[in-house]
Amino acid sequence: MKRVYLDYAATTPTHPEVVKAMLPYFTEVFGNPSTIYSCGQEAKGDIEDVRTRIANLIGSRDEEIVFTSGGTEADNFALKGVAFTVGSEGSHVITSSIEHHAVAETLKFLGRRGFKITYLPVDEYGLVNPDDVKKNITDKTILISIMHANNEVGTIEPIAEIGKIAKEAGVYFHTDAVQTVGHIPTDVDELGVDLLSMSAHKLYGPKGVGALYIRKGTKMVSFLHGGEQEWGRRAGTYNVPGIIGLGKAVELAQQEMTEEAERLTHLRDQLINGLLERIDHTRLNGHPQKRLPNNVNISVDFVEGESMCLNLDLEGICVSTGSACASSSLEPSHVLLAMELPPEQAYGSLRFSLGKWTTEEEIGRVLEVLPQIVARLRAMSPLLRSQG
Ligand code: PLP
Repeated sequence: MKRVYLDYAATTPTHPEVVKAMLPYFTEVFGNPSTIYSCGQEAKGDIEDVRTRIANLIGSRDEEIVFTSGGTEADNFALKGVAFTVGSEGSHVITSSIEHHAVAETLKFLGRRGFKITYLPVDEYGLVNPDDVKKNITDKTILISIMHANNEVGTIEPIAEIGKIAKEAGVYFHTDAVQTVGHIPTDVDELGVDLLSMSAHKLYGPKGVGALYIRKGTKMVSFLHGGEQEWGRRAGTYNVPGIIGLGKAVELAQQEMTEEAERLTHLRDQLINGLLERIDHTRLNGHPQKRLPNNVNISVDFVEGESMCLNLDLEGICVSTGSACASSSLEPSHVLLAMELPPEQAYGSLRFSLGKWTTEEEIGRVLEVLPQIVARLRAMSPLLRSQG
């Protein structure tokens, strides 16, 4: 059975060209970039080229990019970095109620240490209202953290508008752009952000590497203490193959982003329309237009997401019931609950995320298989029987 992978938002396969670019850095150019002899300096030069490439993609300066072990570290670095530098007990942070756990749990941690956290609501589409951000800023506010696009429902937030509000108020602004870098434009000046998180494995790079953009002048304590790497801001021997992989992934994304976004939008809409047509009592979650080109999130009444997910898996189709981290728990998604979906609809949700190797044929296969699975599950469903 040919596998149909539709969970690119959880992780992407590493692009063969990325793997090829990384390989010499395990065996030939293996020197430690912090050494002064040529084999270390060669590696150092190559990671500096990656820094330039990332800076070029997001419109920043090279020295504003710090390599990290991925999106989670970048988020932790941004939030704790600002909180522990310009904040103190009673300082205030504004965020949304639909952030990824990497942001939400970090802020919970800061909350337990005396920071005051405001969780803004979202509307039925998962959108944050910039006026709410404005209204909640106080003289104690040190940081705003709102994600660029939501990983579960794909809604793209009004970051540029919030950026203007943050700038006027003189408050630092972080965005988690893990789902958007390399997929849609992420220019830091256009977005008006001071801090931006990214992760390689969401754009066909390797797992365990990412970066944080830190606008020049942002006051940040060092995140990892030790050596002098990254100007002392993040110590630790460089993950050279990983960084090279990130660089190659960024290079490919730059070449293909516009065309790929168009292709995926077309496939995405085909999947959305096909599912809504073929399965009754189904709704699209997230914004119909302001959404990632590759995201489809639906709720199907009278069936559980887990059951659909496992049945699709038996047909060789990989999808998710929420975010990858949440899908091992049976709690309904905090994102869907924040959008005020009734719990039974939140339980019946599925996320499809499309990518580079998704074809029309694969979309066709989902449209053929899922209605049959839903019909079978509904025939057994006590939920449906109780509706009469
Ligand atoms: N932020 C968002 C929006 C994500 O989707 C993810 C991964 O699922 C992360 C952060 C964490 O990134 P990483 O897996 O690189 O730690």
